Amino acid sequence: MIHYKTREEVELMRISSQLVSKTLAHVAAHIKAGTSTAELDKIAEDFIRANGATPSFKGYGNPPFPFACCMSVNDAVVHGFPTKNALKDGDIVSVDVGVFKNGFHGDSAYTFAIGEITDEVKHLMADTKASLYKGIEKAVHGNRVGDISFAVQDYTERERGYGVVRELVGHGLGRKLHEDPQVPNYGKRGTGAKLKEGMVIAIEPMINLGTKNVYHDKDGWTIRTEDGKPAAHYEHNICIQKNKADILSAFIEIEAAEKANPDLFADY
Ligand code: MG
Ligand code: MG
Repeated sequence: MIHYKTREEVELMRISSQLVSKTLAHVAAHIKAGTSTAELDKIAEDFIRANGATPSFKGYGNPPFPFACCMSVNDAVVHGFPTKNALKDGDIVSVDVGVFKNGFHGDSAYTFAIGEITDEVKHLMADTKASLYKGIEKAVHGNRVGDISFAVQDYTERERGYGVVRELVGHGLGRKLHEDPQVPNYGKRGTGAKLKEGMVIAIEPMINLGTKNVYHDKDGWTIRTEDGKPAAHYEHNICIQKNKADILSAFIEIEAAEKANPDLFADY
């Protein structure tokens, strides 16, 4: 069942989504070679709580997710556990953050590169982010979920030859972290649920450099690429409107923090 949001509810959701964006920017300012993802997770959780919110992911699911953020390094696509391992030059880390505030969740993700990365990984990051906006372009009243799905898949898989993860999808968002409808990153135009004003969804391409196939790590959560090649993940929260989606999360501050951090590669 799809829960349509009132204008007032959308504004509360914007607060949650913006806090996620600020958390990601705060994390971006602290990433460097030698830092562990466990340290970054602590920095993020402290920031979320200092801003009057709780981390949505902590204790979520079965087995309960044990951390505030998902930190997925290199071949980890999503749902990675923060670890004590030091990040090093050439790593990429996808940071996925959820917060719960005023009764609503925000949920956004961003992939960062540490030091020098290969050209193919630069392109993977740029193309995955671009595919998110191609999906958002189709997220307007009167279209269908499949129009978003097709836009992401067509650009990443057909045009660029990447692997589009099938097992995990975007989703409705609101009082619950995962609401209807599911928003796959693959599909056919003109199919799926009709997009209507007041729907809030998370669009989140998870794109692999190589094969689309993934497997579940033995920790019960981390999703990894079958061929061990890296994956990228960017996620926005948007509200469906008549002519143009209202993007509730924002990458502006994250991108500024990324550019200002000499340890991050931002020129992709
Ligand atoms: Mg997320
Ligand atoms: Mg999500």
